[in-house]
Amino acid sequence: MVTDINLAKARRIAAEVADPELPFLTVEDLGILREVSVEDDVIIARLTPTYSGCPAVSVIEKDVLNALTQAGFNARVVRSDMPPWTTSWITPEGIAKLQSNGISPPEPAGMSDALFATRVVACPRCQSEDTEKVSEFGSTPCKAQYRCNTCKEPFDHFKCH
Ligand SMILES: [Zn+2]
Repeated sequence: MVTDINLAKARRIAAEVADPELPFLTVEDLGILREVSVEDDVIIARLTPTYSGCPAVSVIEKDVLNALTQAGFNARVVRSDMPPWTTSWITPEGIAKLQSNGISPPEPAGMSDALFATRVVACPRCQSEDTEKVSEFGSTPCKAQYRCNTCKEPFDHFKCH
């Protein structure tokens, strides 16, 4: 039987799984772990993908499943697309971790495409808004590479998951 205590443990284990591309961020920081519940003694972890084309999503799902299985749980990971993930689900801790790792956080939710195209990305080091995009893809497909014209440092901008 999965007790309340075990369910809490399962939730903690799932929440601590890190993003493979941003290993300092957990699924909890990203806000993609929607729910951990129990059905017929099976732990169900519900995850919402950040964006469907992101290759990290299936890796994260596998990692959550492995973490739960290794802890001795019968577990299943369910992908939950509705409601869709938005950047506003990233916790304040997650935003702080991004900034302290030199990555500028994603745009707030609800920003229109028109605004998105002309958005200003501030430098995570000096907060200067005099920055330019170097490449649509940074070290991973989920990050765009920018350079700050004030402190001259390159930095990654987190654009999807
Ligand atoms: Zn700068």
